[in-house]
Amino acid sequence: MNKELEKLISLHDLDVMISDLANKDISKQEKKLGLSPDSAANELQKMRDELASTIVRKNRDLYEQLAGHYGNAVVPVVNHRCSGCFTQLPTAFFTSQDKNDLVETCPSCGRFIYWCD
Ligand SMILES: [Zn+2]
Repeated sequence: MNKELEKLISLHDLDVMISDLANKDISKQEKKLGLSPDSAANELQKMRDELASTIVRKNRDLYEQLAGHYGNAVVPVVNHRCSGCFTQLPTAFFTSQDKNDLVETCPSCGRFIYWCD
């Protein structure tokens, strides 16, 4: 898989974890387990910043823009559809040999897309 795409997916995963931690119910559960959600959040935020700094500026800016607009900037392709906006993707995307070798975006909503298989 394209390294840049891998980083964008990891960045998305980190953002999901960070926002889960910000969710009060989860924080309460973690406190019960003896974990400190604040330090975990700081740790994740640090990892996120480090990762973000290694991503090409153009993609990082687009990521932030999409995340701000939709909440999720990177989505998998499911049944030939973008799982962000559920638009059927053009056949050219499926006949191409280099799935996941390029950073692709959905032609409809503009989110970063990747293939799971
Ligand atoms: Zn889309």
